[in-house]
Amino acid sequence: MKLLFEISKDEHGCDLLPAPDVPEATLPEEMCRKTPLDLPQLSETELSRHYTRLAQRTFGVNSGFYPLGSCTMKYNPRINEELAALPGFCDIHPLQPEHTVQGCMEVLSETGKALCEITGMDAVTFQPAAGAHGELLGVLLIKAWHESRGDLKRTKILIPDAAHGTNPASAAMGGFTVVNIPSGPDGCVDVEKLRRAAGEDTAGLMLTNPNTLGLFDRNILEITGIIHDAGGLNYYDGANLNPVMGIVRPGDMGFDLVHLNIHKTFSTPHGGGGPGSGPVGCKAILSDFLPACRITEKNGSYTFDTPVRTIGSVKAFYGHFLVVVRALAYIRTLGAEGIRRAATHAVLNANYMRRKLSECYDMATEGPCMHEFVITLQKAKEQAGVTALDVAKALLDYGIHPPTMYFPLIVPEALMVEPTETESKETMDEAIEVFKKIAGLIRTNPERLHEMPLTTPVRRPDEVGAARNPRLKYGCE
Ligand SMILES: *Cc1c(COP(=O)(O)O)cnc(C)c1O
Repeated sequence: MKLLFEISKDEHGCDLLPAPDVPEATLPEEMCRKTPLDLPQLSETELSRHYTRLAQRTFGVNSGFYPLGSCTMKYNPRINEELAALPGFCDIHPLQPEHTVQGCMEVLSETGKALCEITGMDAVTFQPAAGAHGELLGVLLIKAWHESRGDLKRTKILIPDAAHGTNPASAAMGGFTVVNIPSGPDGCVDVEKLRRAAGEDTAGLMLTNPNTLGLFDRNILEITGIIHDAGGLNYYDGANLNPVMGIVRPGDMGFDLVHLNIHKTFSTPHGGGGPGSGPVGCKAILSDFLPACRITEKNGSYTFDTPVRTIGSVKAFYGHFLVVVRALAYIRTLGAEGIRRAATHAVLNANYMRRKLSECYDMATEGPCMHEFVITLQKAKEQAGVTALDVAKALLDYGIHPPTMYFPLIVPEALMVEPTETESKETMDEAIEVFKKIAGLIRTNPERLHEMPLTTPVRRPDEVGAARNPRLKYGCE
């Protein structure tokens, strides 16, 4: 597809700038351009077609099935968007006096209360912009807590090998040494190895439950107990909260702090880097260390304040407010019962697909699963030379977004499938047929699978090249 600069033709340009509503000023000579600005010249029709074509070439939750494991690509209800677009929520400024934005502060306060209830925590901050950002804040809170008690020898954070890559990255950024805890043969934490690793130098544990294999760790109370006995804190990576929300609470599993991915669990559109929100909830022992813009309510009015021993801010003001509006709309629409049902349906859908697909694919673990499951194509690779990448690419020809590939790292040739609760049985049945067709091709025509996709605008891009040598701007000199 051509870039705007390439479709540009002199004389096609149109500018429809409004007349200035402030007096014109003359800039000093040295601040003025010497050559004209090289902007593409396009008519409004050309411009509109260009962006419409771009939009048609992308794939989103509204285009088709999007079982991208660990990303919870559920349907994003339109009513959330309508509410987030209300002028009273959009046309505000963070420096506005508090008495003029009481409704917005009520949204933050009410969402905070709901998230505390769902997670079993006592306080929450909305500052972090995404999950990984929440993890970093969490790690810094753990550090601040140990330091406040004069306990300076705790330099290590324990992380199971099934963890999302952001967990070790966040712990390292927070200045800790990461200790890798191997999983047992059942895909869950090896409790004895954890017990041996925990000690006087343990600052804490970072864990997601259900884990990235889609398994709920039944030893969770023993696991968090080991860390507490060693003097550490337990951090819950809440990116996988979807299958347990309304059913079990991290706070009751022995966790001291947690981040949530509002853009996964609470239905904010994500992917392509759109604004997310990774609020961090914590138990009362940590709440004095939270960042600024904590909301308190007194006699029906809201004020912001900064906790006395704050670690400082990790983002300006109170984070991505409109994402919080969407989350509150979602929580209020579903209610306590609906949230619970969404979770159980997410688990039901994943088990339905898992069961059907286990007839033609190898599963990484024994079933049943929670919200997602992992297929391994190790045998297909050995016997037919077909990899997880080949299967992922083939799915594109059938209008299905590929599952997450090569994750978790402990499974060779992994494809991680998360259907979410918002898919119908019919959609899943269609996807199951497609997976079966591809399994047939692995047996009968593996060569064909190396060539797919055949129908997409771009077939197999050089992904490593694109990541290592990105060309991010048009070279107009
Ligand atoms: C998505 C995810 C994260 C990171 O969240 P971001 O919002 O992408 O930064 C962390 N842990 C798990 C298990 C995840 O699935």
